[in-house]
Amino acid sequence: MNKQKILLYILLVVVAFGALAPVQISYAASANNILSAITAPTTTNQPGGGILNVLFDLVFKKLLGPILNIFDGKSTPASVPSKPVTITKVDTTSAGTSLLGKVIVVDPGHGGSNPGAVANNTKEADNNLAVGLKLKTRLEQAGAKVIMSRDTDRTVAPEGKSLGEELQARVDLVEANNANIFVSIHSNSSPDTAIAGAMTFYPQGTSSRLAEDVGKALINSTQAVNKGTSPANFYVLRKNTVPSTLIEMGFVSNAEEAAKLATDAYREKIADGIFAGIVQYFKD
Ligand SMILES: [Zn+2]
Repeated sequence: MNKQKILLYILLVVVAFGALAPVQISYAASANNILSAITAPTTTNQPGGGILNVLFDLVFKKLLGPILNIFDGKSTPASVPSKPVTITKVDTTSAGTSLLGKVIVVDPGHGGSNPGAVANNTKEADNNLAVGLKLKTRLEQAGAKVIMSRDTDRTVAPEGKSLGEELQARVDLVEANNANIFVSIHSNSSPDTAIAGAMTFYPQGTSSRLAEDVGKALINSTQAVNKGTSPANFYVLRKNTVPSTLIEMGFVSNAEEAAKLATDAYREKIADGIFAGIVQYFKD
């Protein structure tokens, strides 16, 4: 292999990294980061892009640039990295910006020492967390800022606190983060194992709109039995100061529904439905 070939390979590798790495960063970035990336004067300010840019500068501008004579001063730093930034713009559009600026508390019910309803080899806390995390991804892709009450199998308040303190810790996230809405995710249970279906709740005496929108979209997406939308007095609803809904995705006490709730495919459908309902709520 001669020198020119080696240089060509280095060039190809650097171009590939320069093009791919910022895109991956962009996909993971929140809408705010994407916006700042788009408006930033050069991509050298992008978080995580530092090493690549230094490498880029070194190999391209210092070594290859003069040899191949492909750079012409000031236009260079902006022109090459602008490629991934353009892709980011397109991606933002396709994912939608319908929830840009919205702050949403996603609250997967139970967790840690409190598994919630347990039946048919299904633990409510697991269903709730899995769907919560899928919902988070969708909301963030649409530009929302998402606060998860928990993103692992744990209690929200320190273990050993009372149930009231545990639930208040979830509600407290609303004011601490100036959230617009609160969405609590649960799985249901009944002594009557024949009962199946999804339902949504809203705080007694407040607007049912969020719960209605989420309920409708959830049934539409999952084709679950529609158990309707009702007022309720659950702690996380009655103590909340912003529009709130508590979603019962299905019954773990029903063998068929428990099996569905444990599958990734059905959890995706549930997350799709809740997400569509939230988007609808902010559209109305
Ligand atoms: Zn529950």
